[in-house]
Amino acid sequence: MDDKEMFSQLASRFMALYRDKIIHKFKNESDPHRFQRLLQTNEFARTLYGLSQSLCNRYEVDHWQAQVLDTADLEIIYANVDAVEGSEGDYVDRLVKELLRYFKNDFFKWCNSPDCEHCGCSGEQMTAIGNEGANSDERRFDCGVVEVYRCPNCSKTTRFPRYNDPMKLLETRKGRCGEWCNLFMLFLKSFGIESRYVWNREDHVWCEFYSSNLKRWVHVDSCEQSFDEPHIYSVNWNKKMSYAIAFGCTIATDVSRKYILQNELSRTEIAEEDLKFLLDTITRRLRLNLSDEEIYKLACRDEQEMLMLYGSVDGASIVTKSTSAMKGRESGSTAWKKGRGENGKS
Ligand SMILES: [Zn+2]
Repeated sequence: MDDKEMFSQLASRFMALYRDKIIHKFKNESDPHRFQRLLQTNEFARTLYGLSQSLCNRYEVDHWQAQVLDTADLEIIYANVDAVEGSEGDYVDRLVKELLRYFKNDFFKWCNSPDCEHCGCSGEQMTAIGNEGANSDERRFDCGVVEVYRCPNCSKTTRFPRYNDPMKLLETRKGRCGEWCNLFMLFLKSFGIESRYVWNREDHVWCEFYSSNLKRWVHVDSCEQSFDEPHIYSVNWNKKMSYAIAFGCTIATDVSRKYILQNELSRTEIAEEDLKFLLDTITRRLRLNLSDEEIYKLACRDEQEMLMLYGSVDGASIVTKSTSAMKGRESGSTAWKKGRGENGKS
């Protein structure tokens, strides 16, 4: 055996050992008592656990996905993807960009306040008069809160139920960031794109998808038609944030480092090591039934992401290479944005 052969054998032996070690570690490292204790003593831990329960597998519903594909204009979408030059490798990236375009321009509407359903008076003129509970019809579509508006023209009121059921949103096609993100997640899933839901403690949500081309999770925000611009919230909108947590069907992970580049609020809800333990445990449970192969693949991917977020590798370059320098928030009226301090000026 020559040296080269020997080294190559050694290398593959080393890789196999490493792989076994990762899989073993993943399957065995767990402390159910610590997990229970955390849930009992920490409210934020309970909130995150609740979110993981409702979000991680939420969109894995075949008939929902089929309904999206029946409703969306596939001809236009695929024609537009094909019209853009690109390689086979970046096909999914191009598809996601087109879905962002289609969703914002052709499909879904931003709604600060609804038009008057009696005389058609524009939503901009409507006055908010408060919230009501949902009626039984609205509750069927996972609606907790109904905003009520009065028309200056005919004095009648119009209800704006905040639905959470994606099938209902497929019909109403309007809402604010919650509704946008909710249905867009289902769009991504329906087109077979691996994606996750990002929850921000300070009242915003967006999505990420895994790009095999870029070999990382990529930020996408359907309200903004924004692709790979993780800085827009903290830098462009000047938004103050504390936590951003991603929930997918095989992962729950803290992605705050990627999004909170300035204006960081203090993180006092939970000890950092407890947060990591909590999310790691949720992730482990989500992967319980996966094959060793799959577990190893995902573990390598996690490692890569941690390096990007916390290592010196690429974290900073992701931020600086984007082009839309100081653009403020796209979605929502000027007054609404100003009220939230998100017009990029305050
Ligand atoms: Zn009216």
